[in-house]
Amino acid sequence: MIIELINTGSELMLGSVLNTHQQWICQQFGGLGCPVDRQVAIPDSGEAIQQAVREALTRADVVVVTGGLGPTSDDLTRELIASMLKLDLREDPSIVAHIESFFSARKRPMPPNTRVQAQVPGGATVLPNPFGTAPGLILEVEPGRFRDSESPSLLIMLPGPPRELRPMFLNSVVPMLREKLSDLGPFQCKILRTTGIGESLMEQRIAPLLAPLIIRGLQLGYCARLGAVDVRLMSRGADGEALITEAESIVRSAIGKSIFGCGSEELESVVIRLLTELGRTVAVAESCTGGLISHRLTNIPGASAVFAAGLVTYSNEAKQMFLGVRAETLSNHGAVSEETVREMADGARARNKTTYGLAVTGIAGPAGGTAAKPIGTAFIGLAGPNSTNVLRQLNPYERESFKQATAQQALEMLRRDLIE
Ligand code: ATP
Repeated sequence: MIIELINTGSELMLGSVLNTHQQWICQQFGGLGCPVDRQVAIPDSGEAIQQAVREALTRADVVVVTGGLGPTSDDLTRELIASMLKLDLREDPSIVAHIESFFSARKRPMPPNTRVQAQVPGGATVLPNPFGTAPGLILEVEPGRFRDSESPSLLIMLPGPPRELRPMFLNSVVPMLREKLSDLGPFQCKILRTTGIGESLMEQRIAPLLAPLIIRGLQLGYCARLGAVDVRLMSRGADGEALITEAESIVRSAIGKSIFGCGSEELESVVIRLLTELGRTVAVAESCTGGLISHRLTNIPGASAVFAAGLVTYSNEAKQMFLGVRAETLSNHGAVSEETVREMADGARARNKTTYGLAVTGIAGPAGGTAAKPIGTAFIGLAGPNSTNVLRQLNPYERESFKQATAQQALEMLRRDLIE
């Protein structure tokens, strides 16, 4: 099944609107087990739309076109596609009634140009739009017209505003796609979220072990993010579930401790869950991450039961006043040092009477690096009931990525202690 996506809109080409349809629609198709094969963004011009749709129809079983169904002069998708396919446009009285009631419910006069949205190309299925006035449209393009095929291609036109497109896709398009995809058999997908192992090393460690399963139909993919790599296990067909279960147990036995969650689970939600289950608490002392660790932890509902405090201490004075770091530690070893982070973690724990004190200090740059402590150096300290441990890391990225990577490593250090 070949799927292509065409996002129209001159605002996309000018960079004034981020093309979130591309990500969202690709996620939906991915979840249905049919990843999008090709995606293009094009301006609103007639030539570009007709050329892109014609070209996609030479290859695809399903072509989705977004945008350009509205009432203004730059909304041309419906007319251009009808004229390209030589289909007449007819006004649909039920859509006119919907547009009229849309405006009367808001006590606003109906602008005459909105009526153009009731024009429907011959043979099109109309997708209702409860959140706007432009309906979606589906056309079946007969086999042989643009490509050699036994079955027709589906041409799906959706309105541009996300608040209109998303419910329409979920409520009207997905049920129809499920029916079309049912011949391909059930689809299974499992995402294992990992941290602490780079993408290449991950592949070296797991790909050879999974090779026999790949021959049996397992699809293996990786998605590298800052401080995390997702391993994607996918399979289609009757024995897909068994294949994924077998693959997961192989991956777990190879890199089990690095797997922090599944699906869309975030590291911070795992940490909050583990703290809650174990009845433990944490206080965080942050220098170089500026509160990011505390922010991530407090994004999770229920954090207040296990998260006691987050202290952002940048100056030496603040480290001394709020955490009890000793002046001689700072003068002998510097604010970015193993000794300082150890005292920060101990201070956070002792002053807040928590199970753990988690602390970070580092050099985010662009200035401040030395040969011994280059830009990107971070010290992470974890004080627990039995000991205080320190990790030294190098995250040589720009400031925000440095903060993200360091926060991830700190959360992972706490998670490792919780699971051990
Ligand atoms: P309208 O009735 O609003 O004119 P339309 O179907 O003609 O709907 P567009 O005019 O192409 O859609 O886009 C309307 C708005 O939807 C844009 O201003 C933009 O804010 C948003 N939008 C369009 N395409 C995208 C996209 N690919 N990603 C995110 N937002 C988009």
